[in-house]
Amino acid sequence: MKLSEFTGYGDKMEQLMRSVQAGRIVHALLFVGPRGSGKRTMANLFAQAMLCRGPEPRPCGTCPACKRYLAGSHPDVRTLRPEKKTLGVDEIRDLIDYLSLKPYEGGRHIAIIEQADKMTPPAQNALLKTLENPDGEAMFFLIAEDAGGLLPTIRSRCQAVRFTDLSVEDCAGVLVKRGIAPERAKMLAGMAQGSVGRALALNADEGFMDLRNRVIQSLETLGDAASVSRAAALLEDEKGAEGDILDIMELWARDRMAAQAGAQPYQAGEYDRLVKGKIDGRALLKGVVEARRRLASNVAWPGVLENMYFDLINTENSGRTTLSWQR
Ligand SMILES: [Zn+2]
Repeated sequence: MKLSEFTGYGDKMEQLMRSVQAGRIVHALLFVGPRGSGKRTMANLFAQAMLCRGPEPRPCGTCPACKRYLAGSHPDVRTLRPEKKTLGVDEIRDLIDYLSLKPYEGGRHIAIIEQADKMTPPAQNALLKTLENPDGEAMFFLIAEDAGGLLPTIRSRCQAVRFTDLSVEDCAGVLVKRGIAPERAKMLAGMAQGSVGRALALNADEGFMDLRNRVIQSLETLGDAASVSRAAALLEDEKGAEGDILDIMELWARDRMAAQAGAQPYQAGEYDRLVKGKIDGRALLKGVVEARRRLASNVAWPGVLENMYFDLINTENSGRTTLSWQR
């Protein structure tokens, strides 16, 4: 992938790269944004582009420097990430020692600090000295979900780049570029709410599609009070997957609403099932929100699930249209 191909940020990154090459900006970039929004991918792409010796547009992906970078064996790159909950001063001092050596390939050193907001205050102060007195050869990439964990003095030394999740459509486009079939890409993007990192993680998770099928099957089993335990039994043993199950249900609910309203659902391949489904999208969405709340207050999952299913049935019995299977 070239810098210019980075969906949503390509132009900005190329501009930044030109500024770096012209020596116009500080030698530290701070990438801030939610998990899965592309910060780490971008930092690595940018760093690779800086070390690339191939033709423009960079990174070329094929020159020896690019190959070493992609193999994780480029000698002028050092990546720090907290092994424990924090990143301590010793690790930063090691990094600074390393940066005081001459770059092996005669270019620049690259230092990537992941979860930079996990640096302890002494670690940040040690880093600050280096940021204040650059030797001109090191380029820093700080990556953080929340810049609030960084000292204001660190933040002021960095050029900040903010990342947000993409729209679901753009996210699906990125996934297709990475070789995922369009229909699956749209479903994953919808499930991940535009977070490319989360969508890729779901794609790599072999059990996920299986889980999704069981969730849909469970929802389709639900019809009357007598069906609740049968429907819940399909999902009750999924310890650890509660969050995924509720995400799948949320997307199903939103898509059901879209399909009912005549709009195109994200899971376009499931259009018929969505339209014919018994469960009302809006009621299911409410149920999902309530289930997350109960889970957060430590109610056990089987109870949360059965409660949610009974709520769906009971809302129907009290006269409101929850189950629209009579339509
Ligand atoms: Zn290259």
